[in-house]
Amino acid sequence: MTAKIIDGKKIAEGIKEKLKFQIEGLTIKPCLAVILVGNNPASNVYVNMKEIECTKLGIILKKYCLKENLLEEKLLNLIKALNNDVHVHGILVQLPLPSHIDEFNIIEAIEPKKDVDGFHAINMGCLFIGTPKFEPCTPKAIIEMINSTNITIEGKHAVIVGRSKIVGNPVAQLLLQHNTTVTICHSKTHDLKEYTKQADILVVAVGIPHLIKEDMIKEGAIVIDVGVNRIEDITYKKGYYLCGDVDFEKVINKASYISPVPGGVGPVTIAMLMSNTLKAYHLIENGKAI
Ligand code: NDP
Repeated sequence: MTAKIIDGKKIAEGIKEKLKFQIEGLTIKPCLAVILVGNNPASNVYVNMKEIECTKLGIILKKYCLKENLLEEKLLNLIKALNNDVHVHGILVQLPLPSHIDEFNIIEAIEPKKDVDGFHAINMGCLFIGTPKFEPCTPKAIIEMINSTNITIEGKHAVIVGRSKIVGNPVAQLLLQHNTTVTICHSKTHDLKEYTKQADILVVAVGIPHLIKEDMIKEGAIVIDVGVNRIEDITYKKGYYLCGDVDFEKVINKASYISPVPGGVGPVTIAMLMSNTLKAYHLIENGKAI
């Protein structure tokens, strides 16, 4: 069996086309404030990608690039000002933050209605009690990608490798709400293969290149590879290449569907950010509570 590719770029284009059409009809344009602290190269790349996509869709992106040694209080003051700015609909703080800044304090300072990343405790709480308001972008993207296969997922066994706040944990909740039976694995799981081999749907969000090998996969599984790993290699033009957590070249022969890296979860995650920004816009402009 050779798996069908879940083409993240194509799925993202479809979502963005619909959003662009909706945004074109608006007199006031949605505005997303993005805060970048320090000079993390990966964060720079992610923010630039978000800026490009916002521009294409007609979303105004206000970028705040702040110094690495910024005081937490200054960042909190900026968030307060953006919360009160009626022209700003969404606020995103690019993570990770420098170690002297408390990430929790910062996320909690964002007005939940403007929390387009969906990381605020109120939004996370709503997700976990089964009434999601802002679903975090990557988990939302993963569900969209699984749904794109048109396979009924109800009753299937979903195994998630990774239990982070931003990917593993929330995607497990969303899959549970889609009536799959969910198993969550992590770094302390004994015999990972024992679990992954049972997965009808396998979501891997770890950050270890090629952690998941062919013999760890159930024949016909849907495999979503969230990992983005940068491998230094001077034979590549950029001096590096990107790969996922799954041994794509081998696993493709055993899975029924597989998402590639790059070109998989990444582009759909950005499309979901645009979708959440439009959602925040409607909440703010219509004065609705979350
Ligand atoms: P974290 O580092 O926050 O979490 C990694 C998780 O993997 C942890 O739960 C950890 O377990 C688990 N883990 C570590 N080693 C193993 C192992 N050997 N076996 C099983 N589980 C293990 O990462 P994120 O969730 O933030 O990101 C994961 C990956 O996804 C990264 O490569 C990241 O770059 C990528 N990513 C991609 C996005 C996209 O849009 N494409 C968006 C977000 C992330 P424990 O909890 O026990 O430590």
